[in-house]
Amino acid sequence: MSARDCLDYGRMTPVAEARAILARHARPLAGIERVPLAAARGRILARDLVSPRDVPPFDNVAVDGYAFAAAALAGGRRELRLLAGVAAAGHPFPDPVPEGRAVRALTGAPLPAGCDTVVMQEEVEVAGDRLRLPGHVRPGANVRRRGEDVTRGGRVVVAGTRLGPQHLGVAAELGLAELEVRTPLPVALFSSGDELVEPGGTPGPGGIYDANRPMLRALLGDLPVTVTDLGILPDRREAVEEAVLGAARRHPLVITSGGASTGDEDHLSRLLEARGEVLFWRVAMKPGRPLGFGRLEDAFLFVLPGNPVAAALGFLLFARPFLLALAGASFALPEPLPLPAAFALTKRGDRTEFARARLVRESDGTVAVARIPREGSGILTSLTEADGIVELPPEVTRVEPGDPVLYRSLVDLGCR
Ligand code: AMP
Ligand code: MG
Repeated sequence: MSARDCLDYGRMTPVAEARAILARHARPLAGIERVPLAAARGRILARDLVSPRDVPPFDNVAVDGYAFAAAALAGGRRELRLLAGVAAAGHPFPDPVPEGRAVRALTGAPLPAGCDTVVMQEEVEVAGDRLRLPGHVRPGANVRRRGEDVTRGGRVVVAGTRLGPQHLGVAAELGLAELEVRTPLPVALFSSGDELVEPGGTPGPGGIYDANRPMLRALLGDLPVTVTDLGILPDRREAVEEAVLGAARRHPLVITSGGASTGDEDHLSRLLEARGEVLFWRVAMKPGRPLGFGRLEDAFLFVLPGNPVAAALGFLLFARPFLLALAGASFALPEPLPLPAAFALTKRGDRTEFARARLVRESDGTVAVARIPREGSGILTSLTEADGIVELPPEVTRVEPGDPVLYRSLVDLGCR
């Protein structure tokens, strides 16, 4: 029996099971390093960020106005005497303010001692050193309390978070110049197929340009990885084995496209079966069925389909979340949003379909999802026309217009 015959042609792995298999193998492999804030965007936080201080660090003034103690207004008093001087951001008022007096106070100033309330300048009348207050003043108004945003010792960002600008803002607010993040994950990338030519080259008879590698490199370029681009593999078993085994010895994750199916020249699925351990191969989905995942040497190997749409979806829906987990994040796809379908469809009940979709505005103003009509897994322009992907699970066999369907935007999936 040849290695080829060992692969189980009959059985396909349901999408839910493929996800469960990925989740079982997902664990951080990347190391930990400290980087300056300016280099931390898009990196994965290695340890919980615990605040060393309160934010704001002191009670402070939230509006431009006047500060005083609210107790002075007991009994209906409406007029206070103004002290000379100003409390301003970065310039605390030097003296305590006696009850019954008020002081000019600007946004961001530490709340002057003796004060607990600030009234906006638009709400008062000032004549000389007389301050006339509005009829109703809420004690404690317009004051930002020490620690109301972050309390010292509190967990501000959890380990495994991919750091965005807002996390860097919070870290800076805490006074941190560096963060502990996961080291970039080394990833090796191949295309495969004798027909493939680099863009810029001249295809021979039967030749086409390699679309997958530039696309996958761009998708990887947004992630905390270092990519080794190993080019195009020929359709020769020995060459494929040597190159991919070599890459698997030097990288924790290897991603290939093409040669994933059951044809005579599908050497990647064959390699995974013969020299590695198949964790799943052939997923019950459309497009993208010939998707393989397994272990080779000490690496994980994704054998993505060759058809460009299938390669892109295999990456976005399976390889990318798993890669992020190896890189230190938790294993998760973005939550799908239920949106009304702007289409009708009948489908088979034994597989998941991923429809390329566009957001449309219905006549009543609500948002719905329409399908991109040209659907083949080689029609890559269908992805350039799409806003997102609709997931139609096996149990859904019929969709009527208006039925809720599960939508994920391409941006959320990591394609932007
Ligand atoms: P395969 O899985 O190798 O049988 O490839 C399936 C289809 O995808 C074939 O039509 C290939 O020519 C095409 N294909 C494979 N790899 C690429 C690639 N890197 N760029 C564009 N098309 C590809
Ligand atoms: Mg091929």
